[in-house]
Amino acid sequence: MSVEEILNKESFSKEDIVLLLSSNGEDRTLLFKKSSDIKEKYIGNKVWFRGLIEFSNVCGKDCFYCGIRKGNKNLKRYNLSDNEIITAARFAYENRYGSIALQSGELESSAVTGRIDNLLHKIKELSNGELGVTLSVGEQEPEVYRKWFEAGAHRYLLRVESTNRDLYSKIHPDNKKHDFQRRLDCLRSLQEIGYQTGTGVMIGLPFQTFNDLAGDLIFMRDFNIDMCGMGPYIEHADTPLIKYAGTLLPLKERFDLTLKMIAILRIMMKDINIVAATALQAIDPIGREKAVKIGANILMPNITPGKYRDSYKLYDNKPCTDDSAEDCQSCLEARVSLADAEVIYGEWGDSKHYEKRRRGAEA
Ligand code: SAH
Repeated sequence: MSVEEILNKESFSKEDIVLLLSSNGEDRTLLFKKSSDIKEKYIGNKVWFRGLIEFSNVCGKDCFYCGIRKGNKNLKRYNLSDNEIITAARFAYENRYGSIALQSGELESSAVTGRIDNLLHKIKELSNGELGVTLSVGEQEPEVYRKWFEAGAHRYLLRVESTNRDLYSKIHPDNKKHDFQRRLDCLRSLQEIGYQTGTGVMIGLPFQTFNDLAGDLIFMRDFNIDMCGMGPYIEHADTPLIKYAGTLLPLKERFDLTLKMIAILRIMMKDINIVAATALQAIDPIGREKAVKIGANILMPNITPGKYRDSYKLYDNKPCTDDSAEDCQSCLEARVSLADAEVIYGEWGDSKHYEKRRRGAEA
């Protein structure tokens, strides 16, 4: 079957997706044309901001790919004060970002549960309930997720990292803290509690095949996610996976594969929110704009206080670590207009897919 024929199908099989991921030249252009038309039709040429606050790099996990893993001693650990977090949230509110995203390493404790609960109440209060809040603070018990939902968080991003169990076990330690099934259970409970639920994967991991990536997209469709954040895997010198650096696809190819993953997912799930991940910009200076053009509709300007940014290094060459929040905003705004899109201020920019899913559940 030709790429053109596949693109006209109602629904893609795994084989179709593998073929689309391998497309080059005119076929690749056709794929991007189709995904950008779909974005235009279902979402419009729009982008919403989530002000990203990376509030702590303290992590209890030891994922083999990640620069802030517990075992990395070459890293200064930090934890923003509540006041610093609130100040960043206020910056977002005053600059009419519709939402913020609170992200950190993964810790489970009653202290963390209580702290985030308290912060959520304060953030809702300072913004008259107007600022939307996405959480991305890892695996937690269902009652913790429920408590935070009741405190006003309404979206949650928990990347599954890879949906191939074997690959998952190669990039994580083999113990209870890094259990694939638990990650899936967490995603399910987030969805059941009522969060707009987001997941995603890394692209270009050691051992990963196109078949794995196709499986990841099918998982997202079957799971009926509302949001997706996926980006290229970028090696980090102080992590165990660095020993496979020589086996990886060249960075440019990981970048191109990520664009294709975004484009295919946009065609498969027309009305979900898709983030243009910061890691894209680590490879290509206008990487995120390219993603916006072919299907992404969410950008996450970093509003973490500047002095901490250098320490939230998930991977090498993370961009913008010496910028301020104001720099990020004006830079991103210029970039969005480069992609012929428009930033929508003062709106949550909820996933339309979620609204439909909820209405379906009520009907
Ligand atoms: N661990 C937290 C979020 C913090 S890390 C959570 O799961 O909620 C945020 C994301 O960064 C991870 O989910 C992972 O997909 C990505 N990441 C980590 N190391 C990376 C690397 N070396 N290259 C690219 N992305 C990476």
